[in-house]
Amino acid sequence: MKPAFALLREGERLLSPSPDARNDALELLAHVLHAQRSAAALLDREADEAEQAAYSALLTRRRGGEPLQYILGEAWFMGLAFRVDHRALIPRQDTELLCELALEKHPKRPLELCTGSGAVAVSLAALNKTEVTATDISPEALSLARENAARHRAPVRFFQGDLFAALPPGERFDLILCNPPYLTARDMQALQTEVKREPKLALYGGPDGLDFYRRIRAAFTRFLLPGGTLLLEMGRGQAEALAALFAPYKTQAHKDLNGILRVLEVKI
Ligand code: GLN
Repeated sequence: MKPAFALLREGERLLSPSPDARNDALELLAHVLHAQRSAAALLDREADEAEQAAYSALLTRRRGGEPLQYILGEAWFMGLAFRVDHRALIPRQDTELLCELALEKHPKRPLELCTGSGAVAVSLAALNKTEVTATDISPEALSLARENAARHRAPVRFFQGDLFAALPPGERFDLILCNPPYLTARDMQALQTEVKREPKLALYGGPDGLDFYRRIRAAFTRFLLPGGTLLLEMGRGQAEALAALFAPYKTQAHKDLNGILRVLEVKI
């Protein structure tokens, strides 16, 4: 047996100099010990040999650059726990703004394109208590999204296919939201080690990062009800190009908590 605090310090040393070393060691140790993620919960706890070996294996994975959330199999979004793994992008806190703006509109018939893990669609369905339609081109991502909808008993209809082509004919929505892949060719060359483990399909938006926005621009009015709204997450520095792309429609850019223009709202 070994005291949890000693293991915590060992893990922290092993993962340093990453700025997240302490947090990551704490989360991995708590995971192995089925304890809460706080130092207080680990006080006076001890780990047996099997637990020490399991912890050591998780630390090795983390040191190898695997994202913490993939190792834990879980990520939090909008206060809900989602299953995450290599099938889809890990939900980002930045994306909560997209979901919040959607919730404020209390949509009756929302559509989410590029749903990935399903975090946005499931949060919207669970918190707004409406049925949400969600699409993704990746069958793997959709299988994960379905698991997340089931986990939260959220009413989401999923369709597999390329953007709007996934939908049954004749469907229209009062709100369309999307966090498409928007990284540029240059961004893809400079990915963080962790992000390299996420599906490229969910990240790469063409040479200038705007391919998906152009395709959405070309089609979205056919799927939006009169008076409807389109909400798009965007990358740092893309707001101006996107507002120009969606002219002459009325657009408004919303800032995230870091002061970055993160979501473009388009009204028809
Ligand atoms: N925000 C993600 C990142 O920076 C990119 C997600 C996306 O392309 N939609 O890694």
